[in-house]
Order: sequence, then structure tokens, then C-alpha cells
Amino acid sequence: MKITSIEPILVAIPYDHGGPKAADLTGKVRNTLDALYVKVETDAGITGWGEAFGFGACALTHAAYERFLNPMAIGRDIGADASGIEALNADLLRRSCNAGRNGPVIYAIAGLDVALWDIRGKVLGKPVHKLLNPASRDTMPVYASLLRLNTPEAVAKVTRAALDRGYRHIKLHERTVECVAAAREVCGPDIPLMLDTNCQWTPDEALAMAKKLAPFDLAWLEEPVNPPDDYASLAWLRREQDIPIAAGENLGNRFDCAHAIEAGALDVMQPDAIKMGGITEMWKALEHAYAKGVRVEPHSPFHGPGWIAGVHIVSAMQQDALCEFYYADLEAAPCGDMIYPQNGMMPAPQGPGLGIDGDEDILARYRII
Ligand SMILES: [Mg+2]
Repeated sequence: MKITSIEPILVAIPYDHGGPKAADLTGKVRNTLDALYVKVETDAGITGWGEAFGFGACALTHAAYERFLNPMAIGRDIGADASGIEALNADLLRRSCNAGRNGPVIYAIAGLDVALWDIRGKVLGKPVHKLLNPASRDTMPVYASLLRLNTPEAVAKVTRAALDRGYRHIKLHERTVECVAAAREVCGPDIPLMLDTNCQWTPDEALAMAKKLAPFDLAWLEEPVNPPDDYASLAWLRREQDIPIAAGENLGNRFDCAHAIEAGALDVMQPDAIKMGGITEMWKALEHAYAKGVRVEPHSPFHGPGWIAGVHIVSAMQQDALCEFYYADLEAAPCGDMIYPQNGMMPAPQGPGLGIDGDEDILARYRII
């Protein structure tokens, strides 16, 4: 079975997350969630869907397909039963090392890999989680990953709304003690509450903040320092205070994961299948984490095939883990309303492959490239 086409589809979809919209990296208020869907076709007539990271990098990853990956990948043979995915993934990673071991080219390889796993499942008539682990879970708890809200009032309101929808785990993307206090007040003492700062602080600032945040019983403090690969500072922070330290969405490959673990930087590792080279590469990173006794909580704050790939991975993991869902409602969901968790739980899709397909009408309506 040969790959005959790889089409990156960049969509920008209006959304509602219950609060005021935040500005993006350029300072512009963000009224849409951008995502890069990937449609892969084969000469066997089977179509696979993937997603490649993402957010502000979508357009760069789109260019990585057109300018770099597609000429290498289109025409490649993955075998009649799609058993050649791992060999293709390894070959593409080897050929692309001059383009970096992290970043848009790796994201593009990841999106292709996810689509090829979808194709493998469709060929074999099994969901991806069963291909990864015949004893996979049927349903998993989900944490509501709230977008940044910036004020205690908005944090309280949206946290309450998420609890009312049945979520029993909440993650904030805030940067003040007051906002964390507001969420803890609404949650009460028993709901696990996490804080992600997206690499906001220097190591000293992070330590001072961690001490101020100690009374709020955070389940983890995510990416507290800048830059994200300052493993020595993360390890130091782990020693100097008691909140578990989480990071990993910015790890580019399984060797980055191993280096971070070796440096003692992580209580919780958060690899992302659509950033770090796909399900193939992430599965290898997970096996290393299990062997080292590191807790894994995959990163998957998306609404398309990247979110669903994360659900399959959590279903199939050796450890129990939470699924991460971006807490927002889309004006229209290209993979259908089955993307939305119910009562804070997500079933593992049971259809072949990822168990979802892109709706071409919705994708066309919101497509910008
Ligand atoms: Mg994060």
C-alpha cells in the first residue's frame, strides 16, 4: 500500500470557553482555535486522518509538509497491512535530522504517523488502542484544561461551569496566586487541581511562587520555568519545594524524554503524540518512562485527530492516566460531537483506526490554508 497524497488542512474555528478571549503571541485577541488536520490517501483507497501541532506554529508546520516532508513521503510503501509504519517513521526522522529534532518538521512527521496508525487500524479492523494494547481501557477520566482567564472572577466562573459539566479534575493556565486561590475555593479540597504556567518564570521566581502556592494543594505545577528544556532548574525546583513538577509537551523526541528523566527534572512526564514524531515515537518514550518509574500524563489539548490519538494512547498505557481536553466548545467540530467528554469521562473509540473521520464540509468551511 503506497501513500498517494498528504494534505495539510489548516482550520481556524470560532470557540467559546466561557470567559474573555486571551491575546496570542503577537498581542492579537484570539477568536479562533487554529488546528492543522492531515488527510492521507493511499492507493488501496483507504484514507487516514491525523493532526500535526499546532497553535501558533500551524502555518509553519503546513509549510513543512509542502516544502519538506511530502516529497520524501508520498509514494512510500507501508505494506499491505500497514506494517511498515515504524520503518517509515524511523527513516523520515533520520532523513530530517538536519531540519531539527524538534519543531515543525517533527510535528509534520507526527501528523503523518497518526494518520498512518488510523490507516493501519482501518486495514486490520481494530481501534488503535487495541493495536497498542489488547487489554486497553474502555473509558478514561478527563481533566478540563481551562484556557487562560486572567482574573479570579473568570477563573471561579469557568471552574464552576466545568464542575457542573461533570469534570472532576481541573487544570488552570494562570500565573497568579489569586487565580489559583479562586479555583481552589470553588473546587473544595477534594478535586485535583493543576497549574500550567507555560514557562513563565525564572527558576528563582518559580521557587518563590511554588512556596506561595503550597496551601492550594496542587496535583502538579507544569512548565514553571523558561526555557522548557532547562532540566537542571526543574530538578532543583523539585528538590527545593513539594509540589510535583510536570513537563514534557516541549520534548521533541524520545531521547529528550530520556535526558529529562535522567536529569531528575520530572515528577510527571507529558509527551505529546502530535508534537514528538507521532504515536510510534511516543510509544517508545512511554516504555522508557515506565522502566524508570516516571508518571506519564500525556499532553493533548486539541479537538481533532490529535485529541483522539491522545485518548487512544491513554486507553492503551501501562499506567492509569488522565486525558487532557481543552475546555472549549467549537462553533462546529470537524470530527463530530463525539470529541466532547461526558461527565468528565471519555470512552475509547471502538471503530477501526482512530474511530473518527474529518468532516470535509466543516473543514472546507473553516479552512484558511
Ligand atoms: Mg502545558
